[in-house]
Amino acid sequence: MPCDVIRTPGGATVFACSRGRRPPPCTVPGCDRPGVRQCDYPVPARRSGTCDRYLCAAHAVSRGPNRDLCPPHAKLEERQGKLPLGEP
Ligand SMILES: [Zn+2]
Ligand SMILES: [Zn+2]
Repeated sequence: MPCDVIRTPGGATVFACSRGRRPPPCTVPGCDRPGVRQCDYPVPARRSGTCDRYLCAAHAVSRGPNRDLCPPHAKLEERQGKLPLGEP
């Protein structure tokens, strides 16, 4: 886990880890905004059961009140939703 070392004016050393208030960066290549959302697309292979990719507000695709998808999964879901299953 990446941690930042912050030295206070009083001489104390504080470790600020990414679990703290600073969100990890957006996972979209070339984007360095903070990943304030996570992809909620179901991925059974993952322990959490969802994709969990970090996304900034601009890259998260909203699919309802508490549901956000990463761009590839939003596209995938769009295709699955519009085409009958099994059709190319
Ligand atoms: Zn982004
Ligand atoms: Zn995803």
